[in-house]
Amino acid sequence: MGMTIAQVIVDVDSKSVDRTFDYRIPEYLSTVVQPGVRVIVPFGPRKIQGFVMACISEEEAEYDLAQLKSIIEVKDIQPELTEELVHLSEWFSRYFVSKRISILEAMLPSAIKAKYTKVFQIQPEIELPQAIAKYFDAQGQYHYQKAQKDHMVHELRPYLLDGSIKEMTLLNQNTTRKTQKAVRLVDVENGDTLLSDLEKKPKQYELVAFLLDEHHRDVFLQELLEMSFSNSSITTLTQKGILEKYDAIVERDPYAGRVFEAEAARKLTAEQQKAFEQLNQALHDEKAQTFLLHGVTGSGKTEVYLQIIEQVLKQNKSAMMLVPEIALTPQMVNRFKRRFGDEVAVLHSALSKGERYDEWQKIRDGRAQVSVGARSSIFAPFKKLGIIIIDEEHEATYKQEDYPRYHVRDIATWRANFHGCPLVLGSATPSLESYARAEKGVYQLLSMPSRVNQQPLPDIEICDMREELAHGNRSMFSEKLKTAIETRLEREEQVVLFLNRRGYASFMLCRDCGHVPQCPNCDISLTYHKSTAQLKCHYCGYQTPAPFQCPSCESEHIRQMGTGTQKVEELLEKAFPEARIIRMDVDTTTQKGSHEKLLQQFGDGKGDILLGTQMIAKGLDFPNITLVGVLNADTLLNLPDFRSSERTFQLLTQVAGRAGRHEKTGEVIIQTYNPDHYAIQDVKNGDYLNFYQKEMRYRQLGQYPPYYYLINFTITHENMKKVLQAATHVHQILIQHLSDKAFILGPSPAALPRINNEYRFQVLVKYKSEPSLIHALTYLDDYYHEQYVNDKLALKIDINPHMMM
Ligand code: ADP
Ligand code: ZN
Ligand code: ZN
Repeated sequence: MGMTIAQVIVDVDSKSVDRTFDYRIPEYLSTVVQPGVRVIVPFGPRKIQGFVMACISEEEAEYDLAQLKSIIEVKDIQPELTEELVHLSEWFSRYFVSKRISILEAMLPSAIKAKYTKVFQIQPEIELPQAIAKYFDAQGQYHYQKAQKDHMVHELRPYLLDGSIKEMTLLNQNTTRKTQKAVRLVDVENGDTLLSDLEKKPKQYELVAFLLDEHHRDVFLQELLEMSFSNSSITTLTQKGILEKYDAIVERDPYAGRVFEAEAARKLTAEQQKAFEQLNQALHDEKAQTFLLHGVTGSGKTEVYLQIIEQVLKQNKSAMMLVPEIALTPQMVNRFKRRFGDEVAVLHSALSKGERYDEWQKIRDGRAQVSVGARSSIFAPFKKLGIIIIDEEHEATYKQEDYPRYHVRDIATWRANFHGCPLVLGSATPSLESYARAEKGVYQLLSMPSRVNQQPLPDIEICDMREELAHGNRSMFSEKLKTAIETRLEREEQVVLFLNRRGYASFMLCRDCGHVPQCPNCDISLTYHKSTAQLKCHYCGYQTPAPFQCPSCESEHIRQMGTGTQKVEELLEKAFPEARIIRMDVDTTTQKGSHEKLLQQFGDGKGDILLGTQMIAKGLDFPNITLVGVLNADTLLNLPDFRSSERTFQLLTQVAGRAGRHEKTGEVIIQTYNPDHYAIQDVKNGDYLNFYQKEMRYRQLGQYPPYYYLINFTITHENMKKVLQAATHVHQILIQHLSDKAFILGPSPAALPRINNEYRFQVLVKYKSEPSLIHALTYLDDYYHEQYVNDKLALKIDINPHMMM
C-alpha cells in the first residue's frame, strides 16, 4: 500500500494548531509529496501553506478516511528541508518550548518566504516528445503550479531525473539581478588591426589590448578605473566607436569570478598534530564526540579545522563551520575558498536574500560540501555530515535571542548525534559551561597552548586611569598610550584602538539640574545622534529633536555627554594631527561591503590608526599592527550580569590577540579604573585557567551556571497590576512543579522595567535536575499563549538565557 496521507504542520501562528493535520495526497502528486516539502492545503475556509512532516499509509490512519481533505498544491519540486531537519524541529519544539511552524520557518532561508515561482526548464539542445513539449512556453519553461493543475507532474518526472528538464526557482522580490556598467570592444575580430592603429597612443593601446585579452568575460568600468586606466581614454575610444558601454549582470555569488589561489595544507606543529589525530580518530569511528579545542589566538586552530575538513571530504561527507557574524571576514572566507574552491558555501546576513538562497541550494543539491556561516547556518541541509565546527564557541551571538530562541551548541549536539560525527568547539577563551564539561570529561579537551610561529604573546600593560586622573590627565588617552601611539607613527607601524560600545552611547545632561532626557515610553535615557541632532530611543524607536533648553529647569546648559567613536575620532585627530585614522563602527559600516573595504584599506597601509568597536575585535590579522589600545576596559565589567567578568576576560583577550601576530612584537595597553580586578589581571597574564577557577568559585557561590541551569521568564503588559498578577501565577505554577532543590526567584521588575509602555517583570529559576519542569513549561506556554491572544499579556520563556535584561 502506498503512502496516501500526509501529516502537515500548517502555517498558522497559533499554539492551538501546533500539531500535525492529515491530508490526502492526490494520486497525481504522489511522486512529489514527501517529508520536507511545502504544500497548500485547505484549512477551515482558507487555503494555507504547510510543511509535510511525514507520509503514512491508509492503514496507519485510525479514523474515517472519507473525512480527509486533499492537498491542493505542492510548492516544492524537491523538499527544501531534509528528513533530518524535520526530526530536529520536533525535538527543538519540545526542548526550547517553541511552535513547530516558527522553527521550520527559521530553518529556511528567508528568500523562500518571499514571492517566487518554481518552473521546469528544458535544458539546451534537448528535444522532448511533442506531447510533453507542447506544455512549455517559448523560453522552454513550464510553471510548476500549472503542471500540477494539468496533472503533468508524473509525466515530467522521468525527464527531470534524466536531466532533460531542470527545476528553477524564479525569485521575484527584492532579488532581481543587479547590473553594473561594463565596457567591451565593438569588433573583437579585428583586434590586431585595431592595435596597430593605436600604436602611437600607448594608453589607448593598453586598454584595447587588455579588453582583447579579457573579451570572454564582462569587464566592469569600475574595475578598469581601479586598474588606473583613465576615464578619458575610455571616453575617447567610445566616441570613436571602438568601445561600447553596456549593463552587465553582476553575478550573485559575491565571490564568483575572483581567482582564489589554491593553497596547500601546512605541516602541522606537534600540538596541532595531536589535536588533529584525535579528531581524525573520532571521524573514522563515526563517533558523536564533542571536543573542546582550547587554543590561544594564533595557535593554528583554523589550520586544524581546514585539515580535518579535508579528511571529511575524502570520506565523501560534508562539513559545517560556524563562526560569529563579525568574524566572517573576507580573510576568513578566503582561507576556506583557497583550500576547497567552489565546494564552499558561505552563509551570512550580509548576503542578499537571493545570494543566500543560491548558497542554500548549492548545499541542498550537493554542489557544496562545506559551509562557512553564522548562526543560522547550523540548519544547512547537508545529508551526510562528517564534522561540525563551532569556532569562538563562547560568543554570545550563538544564542538566538528572538523567537524561536535556541543555542547553536545545542542544535549542533543534536545534529552531531544524528549523523554520528564529531563536534568541535573552538576558542581561546572557552565559555565556563564548556570548560566545566571538559573538566568533567563530558567533552574531550584538546589544548594548544602555544602560538604557531613561537611568537610570544604580546606584552600586556594595564594602565590605571585613576592615577592618570590624580596626575591631572583628564583626557581619554593615558600618557603611556599617547607615547606608544607616537612611537608607532614614527616607525610607520599600525595601531588598533578599541572602544567598547556598551555604555558609551551619548546622552544629554543638564549641568544645572542634572536632568537627563528620558524616553516617554521606556524607562531609559535617550541617545544623542549628532548627525541629525536628534534624541532617539533604541528600544522603541521614539525620537525628538535635541533640546536647546533643559526641559526641566529651562537652563541653556544642557550638553551632549558620553563619548561615541565619532567623538574619540575628533579627539584623536587633535592629538595626532598627522595620523590617518580609519573609524569602524555601525555608522561607517552600514553599506554592504563597507566593512570589507575599510579593513582592506587598513591592510593596504592606507591608515595608521584603526578605531573601532566590538567589530574590530576579531579576525583582524595584519602583520604591521604592533600596538593595540583598549580605551575603556570597564564598561563591560560594570554591567549587572553574572557573565560580565567572563565577557570582559574574553573580549580583552581577543582584542589583545590582534597585536604582534607576525614577525614584529606587539604591545597591548589596557586602560581601566579597576586594574586589580581578576578578569583584567588574568588577561595580562594570559592565564585562562586561573580566571576559570576564580570565576567558577563565584558562580558556585552565586548559584549560577555552570553549577545551575537557568530559565528566565519575562511577563509583559501595559497594565502593571496584570503583570504582577501573572508573574505571581508563574511563580506559583513553578512551585507546584519543582522540587525544593530548585530556586525560584522573583517576581521582580526586569532590568529594563518598562519598554514601549509595557511593564516587564521577571521570574528566574535556578535548577540542577527537574524532571517535571517540562510540564510546567508546556503548561505555562500554552496558558499564556491564550492570555496573549485574548489580552496581549505575554510570557517569554528563555531557556539558558544569555541576557538577563
Ligand atoms: P587561530 O585560528 O588559532 O587564531 P590560525 O589558524 O589563524 O590560528 O593560525 C595563525 C597563523 O599561523 C596563520 O597565519 C596561519 O596561516 C599560520 N599557521 C597555522 N598553522 C601553521 C603551520 N602548521 N605552519 C605554519 N603556519 C601555520
Ligand atoms: Zn536642567
Ligand atoms: Zn523608548
